[in-house]
Amino acid sequence: MAEFKNKIALVKALLSNMQIIRVKPSINWFLTKYMGKFNLLNIDGQLIIHSHLPSVNSKAFTRFINEHLLARTEGPSHAQISLTNACPQNCRYCYNKNRSGELLNTAEIKQLIQELKKMGVFWLGFTGGEPLLNKDIVEIVKSVGDDCAIKLFTTGSNLTERLAAELKEAGLLYASVSLDHWEEEHDRIRGSKGAFRTALRAIEIFKSIGVHVSVSAVLSRKMLQRNQVQEFLNFLISLGIHEAWLSEMKPTVEAFWNEASVITEEERLSLVRLQDKYNKEGKITVNYLGHFEGGEHFGCNAGNKMVYIDAFGEVSPCVFTPMTFGNVRDKSVQAVFSEMKEHFPSESCCFINKNYGLLKKYYKGQAPISKEDTLEMMKEIRFSPMSEFSRLNYKR
Ligand code: SF4
Repeated sequence: MAEFKNKIALVKALLSNMQIIRVKPSINWFLTKYMGKFNLLNIDGQLIIHSHLPSVNSKAFTRFINEHLLARTEGPSHAQISLTNACPQNCRYCYNKNRSGELLNTAEIKQLIQELKKMGVFWLGFTGGEPLLNKDIVEIVKSVGDDCAIKLFTTGSNLTERLAAELKEAGLLYASVSLDHWEEEHDRIRGSKGAFRTALRAIEIFKSIGVHVSVSAVLSRKMLQRNQVQEFLNFLISLGIHEAWLSEMKPTVEAFWNEASVITEEERLSLVRLQDKYNKEGKITVNYLGHFEGGEHFGCNAGNKMVYIDAFGEVSPCVFTPMTFGNVRDKSVQAVFSEMKEHFPSESCCFINKNYGLLKKYYKGQAPISKEDTLEMMKEIRFSPMSEFSRLNYKR
């Protein structure tokens, strides 16, 4: 009964965007089936499926319908921008390790955001380093506008009640605090004593100001093999957060470019099943990236519908792919993205999980690998078929 009620609420919410009626029936059926797996949350009037999509009754969602489902724009839908490379923690798997250069300044970041929105971006993730260390973060969030969902990925360091309230006032929708394990192991992985306590404190602050609060947890393969994920999710439920955003540890840095570190398809599917089980129980939303990006749903959209711009302006297909197609200081992000997209047709499975082995050949100790080496590497890549969503929406 609860499930049925949720589906009705979802259909009503979708219909609050009347343009949805003009979308192909097969896409509407796909979206209803996909979204129906999650409980619709109402946070301050925002109807939320999960934090990788804008709220269903927002202007950002209307843009998703108009620009991506109806006009089928060539541009990206999702972008992440690193607001700084500085961080008080030192995660073993940090995707920004070994990157350096001249930091983008606030004016450049704000211009970049507007260019990305013009290209089609309706979901923007601010990451780092620790993005809260960017002293202009409130001004940057404010500059985004109300037609693009904003998600903050933070360790929680530097957060105060006042800063959190200012971020909410500026338009922050999703606050995601990193928490990978219980205290001892979390502090060890993050290379920072006290990281766990910092995260818990940040969660409490974000909860108190009424934004959507999630934990982003990077799961090691060991955790999966020891069957600890369920226990960890139960712990996250006890924190009273809205969502557990899960990703397996990706082979982004050299230490993890080996088979033992990368999850198998069977392990991915076990996380998908776990996600569905928890969402049915309804105590917390579980949003596993490998479910969203599985071939049966939206697939891997690295370099196609997803783009990452690091703190120095280098453009990569996604945060986990240490490659560059150019720098936004040398060319417009639109031009760099268009060139990158020619190499990324969108596919069913995770690009980096499949191709990390090639990084060994092209990596020269500095991330991202240069554009010349990136282009050489791309010649060796063979893509898998399109995901279900891409096939339905984009295949001509
Ligand atoms: S490479 Fe993997 S992590 Fe990156 S967008 Fe594709 S599926 Fe997601």
